[in-house]
Amino acid sequence: MLQVARIWDGLPWEKTVKGSGHTVSSPIASAVLPNGDQFELIRKGENSTLLLRWSGGCASTCREFQLGQHRFTPVKIGDALPNEIRLATGVSDYKSTAHLFNSIAGVFQSMCGLERNNAEMATCFAIATHFAECRDPAPRAIVTGIDTWEVLQFLRLLGCFCRHAIPAVFFEPAGHWNLPAGCSPTFVISDPRQFSSRLRFLGATQCHGFEMARSGRIVNRPFSAVVLESDHELDDTVPNTFCRINATPQIRPQILDAKALGKIAGAFQPQLLMYRLKNRSHVASVTFDPSSLSGATRALASVLGSCFPDCEELQTRVVRLLEPQDEERRLDHARCESAVVLEALLIACHEKKANAHVGEVADLANGILDVRGDGYRLEARRVGSIVRSFSLGLRRDSLGYGFLLSTECKGRIHQLARSLDVPFFRGQIEKCDICKKLSPDAHHERDVRHVHCAHKSGTKRGG
Ligand SMILES: [Zn+2]
Repeated sequence: MLQVARIWDGLPWEKTVKGSGHTVSSPIASAVLPNGDQFELIRKGENSTLLLRWSGGCASTCREFQLGQHRFTPVKIGDALPNEIRLATGVSDYKSTAHLFNSIAGVFQSMCGLERNNAEMATCFAIATHFAECRDPAPRAIVTGIDTWEVLQFLRLLGCFCRHAIPAVFFEPAGHWNLPAGCSPTFVISDPRQFSSRLRFLGATQCHGFEMARSGRIVNRPFSAVVLESDHELDDTVPNTFCRINATPQIRPQILDAKALGKIAGAFQPQLLMYRLKNRSHVASVTFDPSSLSGATRALASVLGSCFPDCEELQTRVVRLLEPQDEERRLDHARCESAVVLEALLIACHEKKANAHVGEVADLANGILDVRGDGYRLEARRVGSIVRSFSLGLRRDSLGYGFLLSTECKGRIHQLARSLDVPFFRGQIEKCDICKKLSPDAHHERDVRHVHCAHKSGTKRGG
C-alpha cells in the first residue's frame, strides 16, 4: 500500500472508497507500477472507459487490476472526469519520433496555416504535456494572434494533441482539483477574464511542491495549460518558461468542426499514448541541458528537449526554436537596474576619470533612463547598494561614497557589463583599451531583431 501511494507522488486519495472485505478500490486515470508496468485510461465507446495495461512492450486492456489489497478501476467519464476530456481510444504505432513530430507540425500548418516555427513550437508543447508529471517546469504555452476566431480554432486543434485536454472557457482552478489520481490534464484556456492574475497563477504552479489551500484541503498536482493572450499590454510579464505560439495563419486556414477535430484526435492520440508508454521512463530519468541557452529559456528547452531522448535532431531543433526567446530574455535583463548602473559606470570609465562617486553614477544612470523613457528613476541610495554589490572597493570621502577607477576596477566593470549584455557596447562607441581586449562574444555579431531599448542613448551621454 505504501509503495503504491508513492507512485502518485502525494496525489489526493479521497476518491478511494471502501469496498467489501479488506479490498480498497481506487478509480485512476494513470499509474506507473514499481515493476515498470503502466496503466492508462482509454475511452471505449461514447462514455465508457477501460484501463490499458502496458507490460514488457505489449498492450492489453482490462476492467480493473489488483495490487496487494488495492483494486484499481478506470475512472468513469462524467463521474470524476469532465465529458469533454480528450482520451485515446487505444494505442497505435508511430513510425519514428521524427515522423510523429513532423506529422503533427504538418497538421498545424495545413489546418490552421501556422508558420513553420510556430507549428513546431506547438508540437513541442503538445508532446511535452504527455510527460507533464515527469519534470519541472510543467508545460505552459501562451497563444497570440490577430483574429480571435482563428486563434480559437488553433486552440481547439492543439487540444487534439495534448494529454487529457480539457477545454476551459471559464477557468476556475478550484473547480478542477477533484480530478482522479494519475490525471495530469492540459487545460486549454480561452477565458478572457483576469488575464494577468491567471498568468501569475499558471506561473506559480509550474513546479512541483506548490500547494494551494482550497476549501480546507491542500492540493498539489501537475498539470499543463495553454492560455490565450487577451491583453497585449502584458507582453513583458509572460515568464520565459512559457512556450510562445503565434497562431496567425500564413495561408487561409481550414474550417474545423467537431467531426474534423475528432478525426484528428482519433488518429494521433493513440500514437501519442504509445509514445508516452514507450518513452516515459527514459524521459523521466535523462535530462537534456542545452549549453547555448541560459536562465528560464534553458529550463524550458530542457523540458521540451527531454521529451525526445532518442532524437538528437529534435533536441537541436528545440534549441533553435528558443534562440529568439533567449535573445529577448537577455535584452530584458539588460534593462534591469544593475545593467543601467553598469552602463553609467562604463561611461565613467570612458571619460577617463580617476575616480567616481555614487552621486555622479546616479546622475548618469538617471540620464540613461530619461533618454530611454523607462519612466522611473534610481535613488542615489539604491545606486549605492547596487555599486556595492559589484565589489569595486567603495569608500567614503568628502564628496560621499566613491571608488578609484583603477585599471582593475575598470576591467571588472567591463566584464560585468558584458555578462549582462549592456546595450552600451552596441552603440557607436570609441573602444577603450579594455573594450578591445574583451573576448568577442558570438551573440553580439548576430542580428538583434527584437530591440527593446534605445541602444544609442548611453553613448550619446558619454560623448
Ligand atoms: Zn571600454
